Amino acid sequence: MKRLLIMGPPGAGKGTQAISLASTINGAHISTGDIFRANVSGETELGKIAKRFMDNGEYVPDEVTNAMVKDRLNQDDVKEAFLLDGYPRTLDQVHTLDEILAELGSSLDGVIALTVDSEELIERLLERAKVSGRTDDTEVVIRHRQTIYTSETAPLLDVYRERGILHEIDGMGTPEEVGARISAVVNR
Ligand code: ADP
Repeated sequence: MKRLLIMGPPGAGKGTQAISLASTINGAHISTGDIFRANVSGETELGKIAKRFMDNGEYVPDEVTNAMVKDRLNQDDVKEAFLLDGYPRTLDQVHTLDEILAELGSSLDGVIALTVDSEELIERLLERAKVSGRTDDTEVVIRHRQTIYTSETAPLLDVYRERGILHEIDGMGTPEEVGARISAVVNR
C-alpha cells in the first residue's frame, strides 16, 4: 500500500505512528494538524483563522481545510506515495478528497484506523498536556475534541469499511507493538 490515510480519536497515537508509517512507505507525511500549527506559529493569514478554532477544540471550517489539502496534494513529492494524517475528518472532506484524488488519477489504497479505550485516551492526553504546551491540551478542550470526533469523524469509518479499504488496528500497547501491527497490514 502506497497511498494511505491514518485515523484515530485524539490520543490514539496517530501522530506517533504516522511518522514511522510515512517513512515505511517512503511517502510524504501530510498532517493537517502540523500544517495548521506551522501557520499559527508563522502568524500567516491561514494561521490566524485556524487558531480561533483549534484553541477551542473545534474543527477548522471545511472550505479552509479542503483548499489547503488540495494545494498540498498537488505538490510533486506526493505522486508516488503519501500518508494523510488527520484528514479527512468530516464527510464533506471525504467527498473533496475523492475529487482531488480523481483529478490526479489517484485513489486511496488503505485506511488505517487506530482503536483505543476511551478512558485510556483521556489519560494519555492529560499526560501529554503536561509536556506538550499545546493550547488545545486542557481537560475541557480534550473532552470537547473527543465529542466532536465521535459526531463528525467516527462516521467516516463506515464509509471506508463499505469501500473495503478499512483496516482497524488495536492501538493499545507500546508504540513499537502498535507499529508492528500496522506494518504487518501495510506490507501484506
Ligand atoms: P489531534 O491530536 O487531536 O489528533 P491534530 O494535531 O491532528 O489533532 O489537529 C489539531 C487541530 O487542528 C484539530 O483539533 C483541529 O482544530 C485542526 N484540524 C486538523 N485537521 C483538521 C481537519 N481535517 N479538519 C478540520 N480541522 C482540522
